[in-house]
Amino acid sequence: MKVLVYSTRKDERAFLADAFSGSGLSPQFEEIHLNARTAALAEGYEAVSIFVNDQVDAGVIEVLAALGVRVIALRCAGYNNVDLEAATQFSLQVVRVPAYSPYAVAEHAVALLLGLNRHIHKAYNRVREGNFSLDGLVGFDLHGKSVGVIGTGTIGQVFCSIMRGFGSQVLAFDPYPNQSLIDDGVSYVGLEDIYQWSDVISLHCPLTPQTHHLVDDGAIGRMKPGVLLINTSRGGLVDTQSVIQGLKSGHLGGLALDVYEEEADLFFEDLSDQVIADDDLMRLTTFPNVIITGHQAFLTREALQNIAQTTVSNLTLLAQSQPCINQL
Ligand code: NAD
Repeated sequence: MKVLVYSTRKDERAFLADAFSGSGLSPQFEEIHLNARTAALAEGYEAVSIFVNDQVDAGVIEVLAALGVRVIALRCAGYNNVDLEAATQFSLQVVRVPAYSPYAVAEHAVALLLGLNRHIHKAYNRVREGNFSLDGLVGFDLHGKSVGVIGTGTIGQVFCSIMRGFGSQVLAFDPYPNQSLIDDGVSYVGLEDIYQWSDVISLHCPLTPQTHHLVDDGAIGRMKPGVLLINTSRGGLVDTQSVIQGLKSGHLGGLALDVYEEEADLFFEDLSDQVIADDDLMRLTTFPNVIITGHQAFLTREALQNIAQTTVSNLTLLAQSQPCINQL
């Protein structure tokens, strides 16, 4: 099976090459994203592999199907960027990597939380300039504080356990509560209680039509003043205008993002010599109590290896017309 691997990044190249070697599959690695302009490149390939910012809408799927592509292999867990209905309509099989290292993402969420709460980003710069003042660096103990977790699936579960280890009171919201977390002392409550009582809120639910802009003006207004909001899930969960207003009013005490709703044309690229036209993102970077990382929560060696191996295993199973549990 010939596979066109779109959106190949330098950091994953060696892991992918390793996983494909000896698999019998023929990969072609390309850095460009899959979208309406680049779909035609898939001519002659039976499968394409994509990442989080490839745009696979109905039009792209129609083009891929007409070119003879049969499989779309996501190298990630989230699949909000693929029109699954259109894929079914055009008989394209879609596979994903449902879990590659929940620890990688949960630990990054904790890193963002700790950095934000203890102002590590400011302290790092100060000390490098010989400024050892402690002004403005006061944080709070996480021990004993209420941490709200929205979505307790694979990643949210690990995040809850880490926060229990810190001695925080963990409040969780998920339509499907996890008994092992309840046994570990996590309290499942309604979304309103999460908003009302949490000193920290971390988002770990998927982006769906129901969760789009889950954090909007109304939600922020119901949150505890000074709350720290962490989003390592998907940018579209948060209404950017609302968090900017929340930060300006001081109601939001801090914001840490690894994902951004308009990240598709920005993240994973070195744009340091260009003028960035996204005023909202640039406004966010001006707040002293905002930390943004460019969708790197998954970026550990373990995760990259698992992603590469699972992607190759998914493709191999479909190439052999065998059932694959990772098929959507
Ligand atoms: P998962 O499917 O295992 O868990 C998602 C959980 O959210 C499930 O328990 C589900 O019941 C729950 N949920 C669904 N709708 C909800 C709602 N309206 N409110 C509250 N909970 C709801 O997914 P996961 O592997 O834990 O990943 C979570 C998200 O993290 C993914 O959807 C993906 O978008 C994101 N992610 C980000 C990165 C990164 O690098 N930043 C990496 C991997 C995954």
